[in-house]
Amino acid sequence: MNNKKYDKGLVWFRRDLRSDDNAALYHALKACHQVFCVFVFDQAILDALPRADRRVEFIRESLVDLDRQLAELGRHHGVSHAGLIVQHGRAGEVVPALAQKLAAEAVFASHDDEPGSLARDARVGEALAGDGKAFHSFKDHVIFERREVLTLGGTPYSVFTPYKNAWLRKVDDFYLRPYPVQNHGAALATLPADCRTGVPALEDIGFAPTNLAELKISTGSPGGSRLFDDFMARIDQYHATRDFPAVKGPSYLGVHLRFGTVSIRRLAGTALRLQRQGSPGAAVWLSELIWRDFYAQILSNFPHVAERSFKPAYDAIAWEQGPAAEGLFRAWCEGRTGYPLVDAAMAQINQTGYMHNRLRMVTASFLVKDLGLDWRWGERYFAEKLNDFDLSANNGGWQWAASSGCDAQPYFRIFNPTSQSEKFDADGKFIRKYLPQLAGLTGTDLHSPWLAKPVALAAAGVRLGENYPLPVVQHDEARALTLQRYAPVKKTAAE
Ligand code: FAD
Repeated sequence: MNNKKYDKGLVWFRRDLRSDDNAALYHALKACHQVFCVFVFDQAILDALPRADRRVEFIRESLVDLDRQLAELGRHHGVSHAGLIVQHGRAGEVVPALAQKLAAEAVFASHDDEPGSLARDARVGEALAGDGKAFHSFKDHVIFERREVLTLGGTPYSVFTPYKNAWLRKVDDFYLRPYPVQNHGAALATLPADCRTGVPALEDIGFAPTNLAELKISTGSPGGSRLFDDFMARIDQYHATRDFPAVKGPSYLGVHLRFGTVSIRRLAGTALRLQRQGSPGAAVWLSELIWRDFYAQILSNFPHVAERSFKPAYDAIAWEQGPAAEGLFRAWCEGRTGYPLVDAAMAQINQTGYMHNRLRMVTASFLVKDLGLDWRWGERYFAEKLNDFDLSANNGGWQWAASSGCDAQPYFRIFNPTSQSEKFDADGKFIRKYLPQLAGLTGTDLHSPWLAKPVALAAAGVRLGENYPLPVVQHDEARALTLQRYAPVKKTAAE
């Protein structure tokens, strides 16, 4: 006990909203006699959001669980009134001020490598240093970060497959071992009376409820664990089911990974074990988790991607601009393109905040290569809507679709939205769910209603241009235009 470095410390939770297997909490409990815990609803982030936002509600509900977990952990060790302090303000100011008020000598947090977060943390670190306090941060939300996996030449990887192979060679029990907090709960501090305010209601921070509960989106680490257990029953089939949006194939854990209500070490450790036992589904799922690490290290090592193309030559592409382009963009956002799979996918993201991975690829490709719009427009829209929005993965996905990314699809590969629809939603179950006005169409008519015979449309009650739009562009024409648009990169793409 006496060899602890600090008397008091403060853990600042951000994208690691769980007590179990939490790197920052573990290190704080080991280093301090008394540990306080805080989450800040950061106005610098919240001010930019619409007043009803599923992510804010997800966080709020998850904090209720985190507060309960901390109180229980403390109680188990005889500490009364342990728990989470929740504040609302500018994190850059609130955290140093709270550390000062609580006489914490050090603040502990998990890494967040998004450019804006790094700048915020640098400011917090400076303010704390000015008060004679330390700021310690730890890797928590990926298995390998920053420059941990490098080529033999000592440079970051920019191609996935060799990165994945190096990742798999490097990973071992050391990197997957959880941070056990259970034995260290005696170091949790009793909250001062004026900090025992609990988690504020959404209205108290200026937000309205969303349809999160109606969608049955599970929150908090108990919710994340339930979802993971549920996925375990079908992980072995993941490779065969993952591409079909009407099938319950993927894990739906994205939002939990985003906010740290599941531990990546637990997920990757389980997938690796099952892969070694011969599960093809687990092997493919582990690959997806490695894509997540891959894009996180791309953002960290090549931060220009947040604004510009990974491959500079692609910044020379002239995207459509002006009122017509803006009209096409609105049609895409609102699911009014006339291509049923694209429109159903946009209805899914708008209604639920989730979009199936196959559909993220289809809609992104459609925006860039059928509508000729700047991938950043789509990236921003997804950032606003996705529950699991993560700058590195979203940017990686968009730059992949636009062919401007590090390991992207070639510029001349252009998804045909109709054949994607016929292949991945063959019986139209997904389309019918989100576009009930088309439910009466059958066969290829459902995938390309503009080609349906008038009698078939009439029988299904579909009136093109009235209750369902005509296509906003012709795919073949758009495809030809796109190949011209990408001409400036033709030479670099061939290299
Ligand atoms: P599962 O299929 O169960 O995969 C498990 C986890 O692996 C995911 O939760 C995610 O954390 C990770 N993962 C899977 N695929 C990828 C990938 N291609 N890149 C990085 N990580 C991956 N993923 C996000 O987490 N946030 C985003 O903002 C995001 N935006 C995207 C935008 C576009 C244009 C594209 C093409 C993909 C995007 N993805 C994003 C990747 C992927 O679509 C989602 O991670 C996945 O659909 C989430 O659903 P799930 O949790 O059921 O995934």
